Amino acid sequence: MLLKGRLGGKLRPPVMSGGANLSYSRGITANTKESRDQMTSYISHLECTICGKTYPHEQLIGISPCCEKVLFARYDLDKIGKEVDRDSLVNRPDTMWRYSELLPVNDPGSIVTLGEGGTPLLKSVNLAEKLGMRDLYIKEEGLNPTGTFKARGISAAVSKAMELKVNGFTMPSAGNAAGAAAAYGARSGMETKVFMPQDAPDSNKKETLVAGSELNLVEGLINDAGREAVAVAKELGFFDLSTLKEPYRAEGKKSMGLEMVQQLGWKMPDAVIYPTGGGTGIIGMYKGFKELLELGWIEGKQPKFISVQAEGCQPIVRAFNAGAEVSELWENASTKADGLRVPHPFADYLILEAIRDTGGTALAVTDQEMIDAMYELATAEGVFAAPEGAATLVGLKHLLEQKFLDPNESVVLFNTGSGYKYLDLISGPQNG
Ligand SMILES: *Cc1c(COP(=O)(O)O)cnc(C)c1O
Ligand SMILES: [Zn+2]
Repeated sequence: MLLKGRLGGKLRPPVMSGGANLSYSRGITANTKESRDQMTSYISHLECTICGKTYPHEQLIGISPCCEKVLFARYDLDKIGKEVDRDSLVNRPDTMWRYSELLPVNDPGSIVTLGEGGTPLLKSVNLAEKLGMRDLYIKEEGLNPTGTFKARGISAAVSKAMELKVNGFTMPSAGNAAGAAAAYGARSGMETKVFMPQDAPDSNKKETLVAGSELNLVEGLINDAGREAVAVAKELGFFDLSTLKEPYRAEGKKSMGLEMVQQLGWKMPDAVIYPTGGGTGIIGMYKGFKELLELGWIEGKQPKFISVQAEGCQPIVRAFNAGAEVSELWENASTKADGLRVPHPFADYLILEAIRDTGGTALAVTDQEMIDAMYELATAEGVFAAPEGAATLVGLKHLLEQKFLDPNESVVLFNTGSGYKYLDLISGPQNG
């Protein structure tokens, strides 16, 4: 089935400018010429995560041709170390693009932004007291454009697609990536084709259509939508933005980690609890901390990466518990937390590496536990979380009970999305 938003077709993006601010072509404003000149990428090449073979980043490329696995963007860290002052970054506009040196886009004029990143790291007051903790934080990613952290990854990938001058892109999504792709597609003026399972949430279908994207509803799950997206991309020469089947979305999500350590005064917490679907967030942050450590911008041990999944779709938990290096397809995947409904993550080996290398763990929680935690987070802290984000609170409580975590440790919960996109999970007022 093919649906087309009312505003279909190409729209030119509005260009922000005005006042005393210099204007970047797609909305980043900087106060001084100096800060504009500094904001440039130090990307050097792409590298296969299996065999290390390298590829130029100036061409359109998805997975590694050698091993058909994930490609990582690599940067000239020596040069960054010599030329860039860590502490000067905070003087820049508060979006993820303040970390441009460690992001993949060379030409600032290609950056497609809606103000993603710059989200608050909230210090928990009431939950921390209830749990007997001193250093509990919530990274509030629900404040991003389109209401989820997906905006960061899509902004990075769509910007790189602009730089490479492709005509359009395809996006398979079970939920929030669709809305983000549609919004950044509209902003960029590039043609955008979204592929979703027929039973994807209404809110995500609507946000896709309202931004004028073409919406293709596919029978089956996200894997089936992915297959169609790849085929169409190949036929049209479009960029396919499937999770970790291109190198750039993980780079955008890496910025969550860079931002978090900067907000902690360039210190890493003891543990990060993250709701894991395709794994871009964990993989990106783990990679980002390695880069910061190599730069000497932070020191110490990486936080324990703790992956929370849904009881009805937990391929990473099963693989972790089995000591396996890759996951197996989770049959009949089902959960109300759509971001976690990824039955066979393409980058499973990288997720498991990040968890094991940092002494982390993986655990599953039920949908009902997530919904209860949505109420608890909102009631205790005023944070209206997505069920995925609420799952991290459930995970925290289990791990404190099991004494895997100690209440004296510093812990960051990632609320990856806004509860406003999941209103159907909250019961309304009783009206007889
Ligand atoms: C996509 C999504 C996730 C899973 O993200 P990954 O980093 O790909 O594992 C978690 N929460 C929400 C709200 C999402 O939309
Ligand atoms: Zn390879």
